[in-house]
Amino acid sequence: MICPRDGSELVPEVFGDVDIDACEKCDGIWVDRGELARIIGMEKDLPMSEPAAVQDLTDRSLMSKLVCPRCTNVEMDPVYFEHSHKTLLDTCPVCSGIWLDARELKEIVRSVYQTM
Ligand SMILES: [Zn+2]
Ligand SMILES: [Zn+2]
Repeated sequence: MICPRDGSELVPEVFGDVDIDACEKCDGIWVDRGELARIIGMEKDLPMSEPAAVQDLTDRSLMSKLVCPRCTNVEMDPVYFEHSHKTLLDTCPVCSGIWLDARELKEIVRSVYQTM
């Protein structure tokens, strides 16, 4: 698969006991459906997510929507992992995979384990 940010080839990695695909250039991570749930120990990948408001996206480094690296022709939707913690993810409406930019996976893991 190809990184939706910079077009680099994604490299398979293991996070905990979950197979992920990581970009060595931008440190972004792709997780397939169900993999984020396993990483954070939840039943669902995005148990508390909500769609990101357009006005909140103005400070994003890239304004254009990312394209799903698995479906290759589907634009992903920006969502917050949860309301209180504004970690912005991109999720594919077709395959339900999730793109996490650098540090976002760690932010999510930290926020999940803090609130438990
Ligand atoms: Zn990348
Ligand atoms: Zn997809």
